[in-house]
Amino acid sequence: MIGGLLLNKTVNVIAVSGRDLVEEARRLHNLSRVCTAALGRLLLAVSMMSARLKTETDSITVTFAGGGPAGNLTAVGHAGGVVKGCITNPEVELPLNALGKLDVSGAVGTAGEMRVIRDLSLKEPYVGRCALVSGEIANDFANYFLVSEQQPSLVYLGVRVEPVSGEVRSAAGLILAPLPDCPEEDIEKLEALAPEISALSRHIDEGDELMTALDKLFDGLGFEVSDEMTPVYRCDCSRERLEGVIVSLGEAELTDIIEKEGCAELVCSFCSKHYNFNKDELSVLLERAKRKDDEEPDE
Ligand SMILES: [Zn+2]
Repeated sequence: MIGGLLLNKTVNVIAVSGRDLVEEARRLHNLSRVCTAALGRLLLAVSMMSARLKTETDSITVTFAGGGPAGNLTAVGHAGGVVKGCITNPEVELPLNALGKLDVSGAVGTAGEMRVIRDLSLKEPYVGRCALVSGEIANDFANYFLVSEQQPSLVYLGVRVEPVSGEVRSAAGLILAPLPDCPEEDIEKLEALAPEISALSRHIDEGDELMTALDKLFDGLGFEVSDEMTPVYRCDCSRERLEGVIVSLGEAELTDIIEKEGCAELVCSFCSKHYNFNKDELSVLLERAKRKDDEEPDE
């Protein structure tokens, strides 16, 4: 992942080449080809949005609820481009669309909305929501940035998969955001660049390093690099966190589980890791739930 500036420092650039992180998502969730493209694009976008978060506890969560057959897609990003994601129906596959491409909007749907939660430590989380405009994800992000954050942006997200095996060949993303002092003629240069932007994916697919591909794309636009990061798919789930989830079920439901099931198995929806809790462990958590119920009486 590379951050930088264009056109006399008047345009913010963040770009990512994330084949390995999208392939990790595909492997963990056993994603179909179209779901690899859909969740992959979302992961690329969230990795770029969260790249410059300040502290380890800051996070950005983006959910697409478009009403399509793939269900909801969610990605969570932390500083430096650490991301994880999940999708309701990872196995959904669709025929190629009229352009011969993976039908991402068909899988995601176009009827619903996207939600963005910016959780910056100490402050109340900022929650933004915006109707989907295409379900193809990049256009939806561009629309969200403009409508909800008053930030016009060019957003490109491209995931290429092997037609037979479904493995990820390449995955690239780019967000260009003019700063408030960007002069009109530079905005026009960016608009002229828009049709060329998908060349990023092509160059990377052909074997270019991200920096080389960006130098080609931004030729003559005064590209200056400011920071480089390594994006990665990583889940931060833990047994302690899931204990908290079980405690939050409350005394009544937890008593019910202990009596009827005698144990519990939780599966992390972001990394598919299994966590098992036996009766004794659940009983300890029940005691914690009871204390919590005493502290926080229902209103
Ligand atoms: Zn996990």
